[in-house]
Amino acid sequence: MARVRLLLLIYLWSDTLQFDDLGLDRRLLSLIAHRGFEQPTDIQRQAIPVVMAGKDLLASSKTGSGKTLAFLLPAMQRVLRSKPLSRRDPRVLILAPTRELAKQVYGQLRMLTSGTTHKAALVLGGENFNEQAKVFRQYPTFVVATPGRLADHLKQRNVSLSGLEMLILDEADRMLDLGFKEQLDSVNDHADHRLRQTLMFSATLDHQQVTEIAAGMLKSPKRIAVGEAERLHSDIEQHFVLCDHLDHKQALLEHLMNVNVHKQVMIFTATR
Ligand code: ADP
Ligand code: MG
Repeated sequence: MARVRLLLLIYLWSDTLQFDDLGLDRRLLSLIAHRGFEQPTDIQRQAIPVVMAGKDLLASSKTGSGKTLAFLLPAMQRVLRSKPLSRRDPRVLILAPTRELAKQVYGQLRMLTSGTTHKAALVLGGENFNEQAKVFRQYPTFVVATPGRLADHLKQRNVSLSGLEMLILDEADRMLDLGFKEQLDSVNDHADHRLRQTLMFSATLDHQQVTEIAAGMLKSPKRIAVGEAERLHSDIEQHFVLCDHLDHKQALLEHLMNVNVHKQVMIFTATR
C-alpha cells in the first residue's frame, strides 16, 4: 500500500514543474525561496522555458497570475548569464501602460537586481524629464517605462536602443487601448535588429490591434494562453437606468446609494 502511494507522488511531481526544474540561476532560485514562493504559477511554468530558449512570446493569462516574474526571471537570467551586446544601451526594456503598473513591475525587478551590479531605471510620464535623461547616462541594464515618455526620450536621443536584447510589452492590449500604438512602433524601430527577443503579454489574445502589432514586432512567436480571460460572466446581471437629464441622473445615483442593499459599490466616471 505504502509503495503505491509513493509512486503516485513521484508521478504528480514530474507532471508539475517546480522552480528548481526550470534551469534558473542559483541566485534567482534563492531569491524566490527567500520571497516565500513555493512553486511557479501556470504562466511561469509555461513561459519561462520558452523565454530562456530565446524565443519570442505572445502570452495571455489572468490578472494576478504572476506574469511579471514570468518575464522578469528569464530576463534576469539572460543578464546574469550572457555578455551584453552593448555596454551603454539598456539590455532589457519593459513597457507598461500606466505609471502605477510600471511602478509595480519595477518593485519586483528591484527584488531581483538588488545585490547585483545591474541598475534598473524607472522612467515615467509626469516626472522630471532632465533627471531621467541623467539616469540614462548611468547606463542602466533594465529600463521600466511608460511608452509616451520613453518615446520622448528616444526623440531627444537621450537613450539608444540599438543594443537592446529584450523588449517586453506588459499589458499590450491596454497600451493599445490607451492609444500608444505610434510610440510602440517607434520603440520597435529604434531597437530593430535580428538579435532582439520580444515578449508580449496581454489580457486577451483576441484583440485586433494586439494581433496586428504582434505580427509586426514578433518573430514566429510561441503563443501561450492560460485560462483565457472569460468573456461571458454568467454571474453578472446588468440593469440600465434611463435618466432624463444630468440632475435626474445625480438624484437617481443618490437614491441608489441610499437604498443600502449594496455591500460594495464601484462607480465608473467619464475620465480615468
Ligand atoms: P499579473 O501580472 O499576472 O497580474 P503579478 O505578476 O503582478 O500578476 O503577480 C501577482 C502577485 O502574485 C504578486 O504579488 C506576486 O508577487 C505574486 N506571485 C508571483 N509569482 C508567484 C508564485 N510563483 N507564487 C506565489 N506568488 C506569486
Ligand atoms: Mg501584470
